[in-house]
Amino acid sequence: MIANISYVKEALGELKAKKKYGQNFLIDTNIVDKIAKGACDENCLTVEVGPGLGALTECLLKYSKRVDAYEIDRDMYEILERTLKDERLNVYLEDFLDTDLSRYEGEEIRVCANLPYYVTTPILFKLFNSSLNISKMTVMVQKEVADRFKAGINSEDYNALSLIVQYLYDVRYEMTVSKYVFYPSPKVDSAVIAFIPKRERDFGYEKELFDFFGKCFAKRRKTLHNNLKDFLDEDTIRKIYEELELKDNIRAQEIDLKTFIKIFEVIHAG
Ligand code: SAM
Repeated sequence: MIANISYVKEALGELKAKKKYGQNFLIDTNIVDKIAKGACDENCLTVEVGPGLGALTECLLKYSKRVDAYEIDRDMYEILERTLKDERLNVYLEDFLDTDLSRYEGEEIRVCANLPYYVTTPILFKLFNSSLNISKMTVMVQKEVADRFKAGINSEDYNALSLIVQYLYDVRYEMTVSKYVFYPSPKVDSAVIAFIPKRERDFGYEKELFDFFGKCFAKRRKTLHNNLKDFLDEDTIRKIYEELELKDNIRAQEIDLKTFIKIFEVIHAG
């Protein structure tokens, strides 16, 4: 198995883990197996971002029909080409942010990754914004990032990003992962989080709705009213407060996703 400290040190040889690529390799077989088992479907292709030395890749192959893995670092790519030979595996030497995902159109796929922390958000947003049929996305991220995606009302972490993600996905916090199961060990713990799509996509509607979420949280410490008056007239605001029976001094952090959608609908009902 690849996910153990002696294998990782031997495979790296003279090489050092590259900080600039967020390289922290998993060294606990049980955790890797658990992540892969929850992430994959044996009838689906799994796309992996950043296979590194192949710890997760090896297990993804066990539970998937095929695996396509995208790695930015030539050193990792060459090691993988030598060490992980499987006809159901394709490794691409590519920056995932530049990858053309249209090759997966029309196919149900899974995504699984131990994400490099320096590009977590752009990689996730590339996936969130795609129109592909990704039936489940399972990613390891820094614990504090996972907390933000999961955050609910009245939490410090609750913001427009939490709303966007929770509108699109059923967000599942799968497990906390100690920093000590990585080599080298990062500064903070990580978490595995899964995103399961909730609804058919409507990109035009979503754009307006997500802009609206952003505007409602623009001045975080101010009341919702204060934020709304930057883009709505007083009559519309009064109508919203009356129809939804909102208290005058309510702030965006105190409002749940369902209520935000109702407010948006009142605005658009004219
Ligand atoms: N999957 C391996 C594991 O769990 O042990 C390595 C995970 S490590 C946190 C992140 C990996 O992503 C590294 O191999 C790194 O080189 C790769 N990587 C970083 N930026 C990338 C990018 N933009 N596109 C593809 N791979 C990237």
